[in-house]
Parts: sequence; C-alpha cells; structure tokens
Amino acid sequence: MANPIVAVVGRPNVGKSTLFNRIAGERISIVEDTPGVTRDRIYAHAEWLGKNFSMIDTGGIEISDQPLLTQIRQQAEIAIDEADVIIFVVDVENGVTDADEQVARILYRSNKPVVLAVNKVDNPERRSDIYDYYSLGLGEPYAVSSVHGIGMGDLLDAVIKRFPDNVVNEDDKSIHFSFIGRPNVGKSSLVNAILGENRVIVSNVAGTTRDAINTQFKTNDGQEFTMVDTAGIRKKGKIYENTERYSLMRSMRAIDDSDVVLVVLNAEEGIRELDKHIAGYAHEAGCGVIIVVNKWDTLKDKDHRTMTDFTNLIRQEFQYLSYAPIIFVSAKTKQRLNQLPSLIENVYNHHRQRIQSSVLNDVLMDAIAANPTPTQNGRRLRVYYATQVATEPPTFVIFVNDPELMHFSYERYLENQIRKAFDFSGTPIHLIKRQRQ
Ligand code: GDP
Ligand code: GDP
Repeated sequence: MANPIVAVVGRPNVGKSTLFNRIAGERISIVEDTPGVTRDRIYAHAEWLGKNFSMIDTGGIEISDQPLLTQIRQQAEIAIDEADVIIFVVDVENGVTDADEQVARILYRSNKPVVLAVNKVDNPERRSDIYDYYSLGLGEPYAVSSVHGIGMGDLLDAVIKRFPDNVVNEDDKSIHFSFIGRPNVGKSSLVNAILGENRVIVSNVAGTTRDAINTQFKTNDGQEFTMVDTAGIRKKGKIYENTERYSLMRSMRAIDDSDVVLVVLNAEEGIRELDKHIAGYAHEAGCGVIIVVNKWDTLKDKDHRTMTDFTNLIRQEFQYLSYAPIIFVSAKTKQRLNQLPSLIENVYNHHRQRIQSSVLNDVLMDAIAANPTPTQNGRRLRVYYATQVATEPPTFVIFVNDPELMHFSYERYLENQIRKAFDFSGTPIHLIKRQRQ
C-alpha cells in the first residue's frame, strides 16, 4: 500500500510517454484482462532496485480548450499535488525554451524533489549539450535517450534517492477505503457526509507526504477507518478536476492505497462508459469493491421496482463485478449512509478471509459430486486438491491432472460453489489451476 508516486512532466513531444513506457515496461499489475476495459497509459506501476513506485504521465491528462502553456502549467500543478518525486523532461534538440523555464519556475517554487531528464541524447556527442540545462535551476541534468533506453539507470537512481522515508505505521489497523468515480457523481459530498457522522480522530496523519491527505475516523463501535485521498476530493476549483482523464488517474491511485473501494455512480445520470472503465480497474486490482449509487433522492416516484431495475442494470453493465454489493444512498439526505461503515468492514473481512483446506476440499468434492468434471477428447478433468495460498484477495490453487481440461464455465461453477459455501461478498477471488502428475 501507498507506493511513492513519480510524475512525469514537460512540454508535448519531449518524450514523456516514451520515457514513461520505458520505465513502466510491461509491469502492469493486471491479473486478468477484463473485456471492455481499455488500457490507459497515464498511470502504471514500476520498480527499480527493489523499490516499487507508481508513475503518472501528466501529458496524458489533457485539459482541452486551454492554451498549450496553460495546459502544461496545469499538468505541472497536478504533478506537484500528486507526486513525491517529479521527473521534468526536456528535449535536447530544442535547447532551453521559454515554456521549459516557466515550468521549471513552478516546480522550483513547489519544493518538491525534481529530477531533470534531458531526453533524446541518443549519442555521446550530444552529451555536452546538457550543461545548458543547469540554467533551469533544478540541479544536475540527466542525459537520457528514452527510445534507446540510455541513461535510465542513473536517472532512476536519482529518482529513488529522493523518495520520502517511508514511515510505516505498524499500529495502523484501520481499514483503508476510498470513493472513486467520474466527476460530479458526489464523491466529495459523500466524504463530507461520512466525516460529519463519525468521530474524526486524526486528520493529516504524519508520515509520507501523501499520508497527509488521508483522514482517520472511528465509528461508534470503535472500528477505525482511514479515508484515502480526501484532500484531493475536498480541494475544489481546479480546471482539470472535471476532466475524465484526471478522475481516472485519481481513481487508479486511490485503488492502489485502499483495501476497499467504493465505486460511486450517479443515479440521476445512469451508467456511463467512464464508470465501467473505473470499475474495471478496481476489479483488476483485486481490492474489495462496493458499488454506491448516489443521488438516490433525485429519482422521483420510486416504487418497489426502481431499485430492482437499477440493480439489474448494474449487474448487466458490470458483469465482472457480480460479487460487489450495491447500496443506494444520498449524500444530500444522508439516506443509508450510516450503513456504509459496516458494509465496508464486512467486505474488508471477506477480502482477508482464510478458509481451512479441509473445509475447502469438502466443498469442492461436494461440488464435483453434484456436477461431474467435464471431459474433452475422452479425457476427464480430475480435481485432486485445493488450498488457499493468499488473502487480499483470497487466492486458491487447485491441483488438477491437466489445466487445459478446466473450462471457463466449470471454473465459474467451482467459484460459485465456493462463494455459496463461504461469504466472499465484495471481494474477487482468484482460482489458479496447477498441474499435478
Ligand atoms: P510526449 O508528448 O512528451 O509524451 O512525447 P512522446 O513520448 O510521444 O515522444 C514524442 C516523439 O519523440 C516521438 O516521435 C518519439 O518517438 C520521440 N522520442 C521520444 N524519446 C526519444 C529519444 O530518446 N530519442 C529520439 N530521437 N526521439 C525520441
Ligand atoms: P464529485 O465531483 O464526485 O466530488 O462530486 P461532488 O460531491 O462535488 O457533487 C457534485 C454535485 O452533486 C454537487 O452539486 C453536489 O451538491 C451534488 N450532489 C452530491 N451528492 C448528491 C446527492 O446525494 N443528491 C443530490 N441531489 N445532489 C448531490
């Protein structure tokens, strides 16, 4: 949880996304590909010398209808708000431009650690050109060629050296959760409503820079919660906040830091493409998921079917989230908000649940007796034994004679039988098939 964040900023075409892709490589933490979820390259996980971090390509957060310079400055502000370390990319072919100088000034004033990458230094002759960039006042320029992968080691050494000391709070037994969703669904209204109803213990928990944006509270029964990322939600008024890409990036970040995420939908507007996109990331990350339908007060003339119809629609549009509980709330009237903490706590417990092997195998053997394993070309799938190898999310290894013989539909059946026997609502579960001779 809570990896350091590295943001890449700079003018268009200097090579930000090339550098981003080079550093992130294919290390995308996707366990499975969910159909219908487009891959975005604005946020990714990366690692250098055993240090894990997350990266943001601010160039991917386009702020339309704004002059180029405004866009670049806004991207720099996003980087300052979001990141622990900023990589400022300039292009050796252009020399120091006015725009570079402006961005450098903004970054300099922020006091955030900045590493200056002079890109497109494809051959050694160009190395002497990088000294001009000392004039930006951001310290040593690092010569890199993102296309050829030159200079990456020195650059990344400099980046990880600037990571904040990770103050891991061992005593923190609180449940980390966050509201995610597209702009205007009511995330900040929900945050404020929840904090209004509960006892806030500490805001601004000390530790890394970014912990300062979490808020801890306690419910009446004594359970402690940490609401992740609330500062970004509460601080309003930036142009970029209502862009889809920004809300997507923030959602992806919040997912990283949360045990349970609450995907917020707007009852008034229904389900949009971006809702599915965001929910898809939550699912793939393997955290606990609750679907919160907010603004329930705006639907007039509700009858006994309204909720069922909406539930059916959600089940149809978010098929991969069939395990996620759905709750219909209103941040405005506070309807059902008091049920949220216990729902989050339940999902958190399911996400960490561990099932004894003997009990698990009884369930599987009963399932197989009730619905025999499939055959293919005269060969029958044999299931020998299963065991839970991990939690968060619960992960089971099933030993079989040949994984190829386990069809998707039969795997689905086994998962459903496991879910019937044990309460895993709100958490994905992973089944891994492994061959045993
Ligand atoms: P962004 O707009 O800053 O994200 O820039 P891109 O990553 O899209 O790169 C812009 C152009 O510069 C592309 O044509 C890249 O292939 C090219 N480019 C990026 N890095 C390098 C490099 O290290 N050397 C050279 N010669 N070209 C590069
Ligand atoms: P965010 O962008 O997701 O953080 O959304 P906000 O919390 O800023 O809410 C967007 C707008 O929806 C604001 O005008 C809120 O007052 C309004 N809003 C939020 N929750 C509710 C609700 O439950 N009912 C109604 N009627 N309006 C709401």
